[in-house]
Amino acid sequence: MGHGPGPVSIPAGARPPRREGQRAPLVRCRGARQEEPACCKRRRHTCGGRRGRRPRSGRGGRRHTAPPRLRAHRPRPGRGALASGDPAALGRGIPCAVGRGVGAVLAAGPPALGLARLLARRFRRRRWDWWTLGAAISLSRAALRIGFPPDGGAARAERTRGLDLRLPDRHGGRAGRRAATGARHRRGVVLRRLARAPPAAEPRGHARAPVGRRAGTAGGRLRAPPAAPRPRAADGVPQGRGACAARAAAPDREADGGRRPALVLRRRCGPRPAGVRPGGQPRARPPAARRGGTAVSVDGQRPTRDVGLYTDGSNAIRPEVERVERGSEITGERTVRVDACVIGTGAGGAPVAKELAEGGMSVAMLEEGERFTTDDFNARPRDMMARLYRDAGQIATVGNVPVVLPLGRSVAGSTLINSGTCFRTPPPVLEMWGERFGLDGMSAAELDPYFRRVERIQNVVQVPAEYAGRNALVVKRGADALGWSGDFIYRNVRGCVGSGICTFGCPTSAKQHVGITYVPLAWNAGATTFTGCRARRVVTTGGRVRSVEALTAGGGRLRVDCDLVVVACGAIGTPLFLRAQDLRLDSNELGRNLSIHPATGVRAEFDEDINMAEGVPQSYFIDEFADEGIMFEGAAGPPDYAAMSFPFSGERHRDVMLRYRNQSQFGIMVSDTSRGSVARHASFVQIRYDLNSEDTATFKRAIERLCELYWAAGARAVYPPIEGIAELRDGDVSRIRDHDLDPRELTLLAFHPLGTARADARPGHGVVDGDLKVRGTENVYVADGSVVPSSLGVNPQITIMTLATRLAFHLLGAPAPDHEPEPEAIARPRITRPHALTA
Ligand SMILES: Cc1cc2nc3c(=O)[nH]c(=O)nc-3n(C[C@H](O)[C@H](O)[C@H](O)COP(=O)(O)OP(=O)(O)OC[C@H]3O[C@@H](n4cnc5c(N)ncnc54)[C@H](O)[C@@H]3O)c2cc1C
Ligand code: SF4
Repeated sequence: MGHGPGPVSIPAGARPPRREGQRAPLVRCRGARQEEPACCKRRRHTCGGRRGRRPRSGRGGRRHTAPPRLRAHRPRPGRGALASGDPAALGRGIPCAVGRGVGAVLAAGPPALGLARLLARRFRRRRWDWWTLGAAISLSRAALRIGFPPDGGAARAERTRGLDLRLPDRHGGRAGRRAATGARHRRGVVLRRLARAPPAAEPRGHARAPVGRRAGTAGGRLRAPPAAPRPRAADGVPQGRGACAARAAAPDREADGGRRPALVLRRRCGPRPAGVRPGGQPRARPPAARRGGTAVSVDGQRPTRDVGLYTDGSNAIRPEVERVERGSEITGERTVRVDACVIGTGAGGAPVAKELAEGGMSVAMLEEGERFTTDDFNARPRDMMARLYRDAGQIATVGNVPVVLPLGRSVAGSTLINSGTCFRTPPPVLEMWGERFGLDGMSAAELDPYFRRVERIQNVVQVPAEYAGRNALVVKRGADALGWSGDFIYRNVRGCVGSGICTFGCPTSAKQHVGITYVPLAWNAGATTFTGCRARRVVTTGGRVRSVEALTAGGGRLRVDCDLVVVACGAIGTPLFLRAQDLRLDSNELGRNLSIHPATGVRAEFDEDINMAEGVPQSYFIDEFADEGIMFEGAAGPPDYAAMSFPFSGERHRDVMLRYRNQSQFGIMVSDTSRGSVARHASFVQIRYDLNSEDTATFKRAIERLCELYWAAGARAVYPPIEGIAELRDGDVSRIRDHDLDPRELTLLAFHPLGTARADARPGHGVVDGDLKVRGTENVYVADGSVVPSSLGVNPQITIMTLATRLAFHLLGAPAPDHEPEPEAIARPRITRPHALTA
């Protein structure tokens, strides 16, 4: 599960239009020569000025009916408000696309609304009708795409009244304007230096020298002796705000002879990672660039539980050359010729491109989104959602309960914005695939070498306790008290400093998304990435696909002539792409069987200081109930993220946010038996998903148990994600137990769409066969989440990467890699029997 973005605030919707012929009540407006509508009383003085001033027009005020305002949602008892980001409102009674659009209007903010109002006036619409609303939605979505408003809303945020609970000093968080203009973030650069991890795929590429060799650094000096251990709390983590400041500042002052400590060291909160140089001490020599090198012990094992491996970013993969062609610069017709064309550069596309390129093929990668580097990240969730997420993260399913379904749209796809949690496919699930879908070639033993290869390249290591954050540690305390099974999560990182912003762009390049691992390795092997190029159609002759045509961001066309096509557009994009082609698909399963791992979160308030913003957001999991399809995973978030997702509004929301440092949040992910579908209706994409009664009952059990856990951990109040049960006190869970839960009362998100072009080795079944070839075609393959035939019960990125690697080896006719080091340890969640057998 990804802890992902909370849904952003959306308005409750426009006031219902008046009936035809009905007028607004008229009042006499001071300064106007004739009567004005009642709206003038509320500063909505559409006749040209504020109340009491003369109207602009010398001819006196115009008669008009006022457009109903988009107003803040009124909280319903026991229910979150739309204004605070209640996703349940998104889509309930509002079609998905409109919900998205309205969300976009809000994301673009008051300027977009002003624009919409202007439109209403300009075209003399008598009232705010659907035409005006539609135009406003389109305009604001277009504005979002081109990066409007230019300051990322920072200026507006400054004007906000009340306490500012954001973390302005995190990762150059004040640089909202710079992010929008593409300028570099100074603090991001300094942080990277601190973590000694030159970003793997920086624009400056191989010209960027290792830190120690740059001018002005003491590259030749010896490594500084390790700093003396600082006092720690019982659980090993320094406590409280003062402790955080002390952690960062005290050693600097000592080393600096009492001078002001270095800016970033003073500001950075979180345990100091190994290898961070205290200010004033000689800089240690970075180890020689190992291009993604991996330490292997004498017995051939790859260590996975070492704090140093987790925090050391010096072994990051670096591109020798950047082979990127920007679609925005392709304005005319362009044709390239390659052996293989890979469409999509996410968890599926990037590994297959890298392996094919290293196997000797010439490869072109087409990516609809742009390429982002650490310099584009400013750690502000709202800005980053607009830039890195498809449709600004406002995609939602339609059905008996709306589920917000964020997706990535950039080089690295959803891995750029995911939480970095890594699990292998549970063996019982693989066994079920063999029995149910005839996928014998995907047994645990057969996939083992590919798992090892992916985990080595992605550097999958376990989160050390001191980086897990207090949010995870209080939950662990509760789980230990109840005797429940759990462990620290394994993640794909190099040089993580526990800064807690993984899903909005890791500012230190620590999270190993495929854009800084597989994509640079593919470039090194000769592949080229075409960004801003949306593949539209394939051209077939004689039953074989001969080329792929793409529209470029510059308005041009790119044709890729190729012998082989690998579609990796993700579980939502792939069925839409394949459906649009003139292929003789031998299956009617395309776009069906969608599973999403629906998720929600329980929040709790403690007396102690937790500060969710510190530490890895998703660092601990509880698998006690994994056999029932329930996984609990960390879902901490920075204050701005929490503000969007807390189910309160107005004064109540303010109160909760003022106690942000005492709040904890943990996620529930359900291995779903419900299935949905993806289809295009005219220009709208509809993702249909109904939560069935079995999954609803699973959610009820899971929420009840997580509340029990919070009571065991010492919570003062618990907030379950159920409409009508806003808050629990005094150890109470009976209100949940006695409640007849309706799916519509749940607040749900999902991050793992799977199965819409599922693999099935049995003839006549499945969209792709056991080798992931699209049935009915000769040279079209699929390598992304859509081929995964069932719910997994665990986060899917490693499964997707592994299946993609296996596909590449199959296409190259190469045997499975047998030299990959075995990991010292790897997460093995307690899934002893497969669920989701209703698939
Ligand atoms: C917020 C969030 C948190 C997550 N956290 C985790 C986690 O901790 N652990 C985990 O295992 N999984 C996590 N996931 C899920 C995981 O990231 C995805 O399952 C995985 O990335 C899916 O891989 P994919 O290749 O199927 O699709 P994607 O990674 O989404 O890649 C698809 C790519 O194809 C591109 N594309 C689509 N259509 C076209 C076209 N027509 N032409 C060109 N390009 C196109 C898209 O722009 C995109 O870049 C998370 C997901 C999200 C959104
Ligand atoms: S916690 Fe996440 S965002 Fe912060 S350094 Fe680690 S991987 Fe990057």
